[in-house]
Amino acid sequence: MRRIVIAGNWKMHKTQADSLEFLTGFLPQLEATPEHREIILCSPFTCLASLSKTLHGSRVMVGAQNVHWESSGAYTGEISGEMLTEIGVRYVIVGHSERREYFGDTDETVNLRLKAAQAEGLTPILCVGETKQQRDAGETETHVVNQIKRGLVGVDQSKLIIAYEPIWAIGTGDTCASEEANRVCWLIRSQLANKNVPIQYGGSVKPTNMDEIMAQPEIDGALVGGASLEADDFARLVNYQ
Ligand code: PEP
Repeated sequence: MRRIVIAGNWKMHKTQADSLEFLTGFLPQLEATPEHREIILCSPFTCLASLSKTLHGSRVMVGAQNVHWESSGAYTGEISGEMLTEIGVRYVIVGHSERREYFGDTDETVNLRLKAAQAEGLTPILCVGETKQQRDAGETETHVVNQIKRGLVGVDQSKLIIAYEPIWAIGTGDTCASEEANRVCWLIRSQLANKNVPIQYGGSVKPTNMDEIMAQPEIDGALVGGASLEADDFARLVNYQ
C-alpha cells in the first residue's frame, strides 16, 4: 500500500514568528483531513525547533531542507543529521534543484546526504527533475533515470520519498501536465527495487491543480513551494478531493 505524502518547502521564507502564525491558521483546517495523508512542513533551520515543539503530538511532521554527510566537523554553514533529530525533525529534503544549481550539490553529494540522513533516522525526500533545455532536447528520461541511479546507490528504499520536480515548473506557474508528470513518476518507479516508495510531483502545485495531479495513479503526493506559504492554500492542498 503506497503512502500519500504532502510536503511544504518553505525555502528561505518565514521567521519563527511567521511560522507559528501559519500554524494558527493551518492546524484548525486539518480536522477533516483523511488520516492516511502524511503532512510535512520543511522550514528554515531557525524555525525547526519551535515548530517541532508546537507540533508535538499533532499529525504534522517537521522537515529540514538540507543535511550534511558528516556527523560533525569543520563544515561552516552545514548541519548534521543528529542536530536535526535532536530537535524532533523527521524528514529532510535532499538534492533540491536550488541546492544543485546554487550550492554545488551533485548526484554524488546527494547520495552521501541521503545515506547520512537515513543513518540518523531521518526520512529523506530526494528531488530529481530536468531543465527546460534537457526537456526540449529529449533528455528528460535519461537525466532523471541517471539522477535516480546515481543518487540511490546504497540507499535504503524503505525509508525514502522521491519528488519529481521538473525545474522549469518550479516557481514559474507553468505546471507540468498531469499525465506527463504521471509518466515520469512511472519511469522513476520502474527504476526502484521498492515499488512502494512514495513519489511526489512538485512544480507550481496550487489549489486549482492539486485535485487533477492527485488523480494520477503514479503520483503519491506533492512537494509544494509557493502554495505552502499561505495557511489557507496549503490546507486546501492537503484536503484535496
Ligand atoms: C519547490 O521548490 O520544491 C517547488 C515545487 O516550488 P513551487 O511549488 O513554488 O513551484
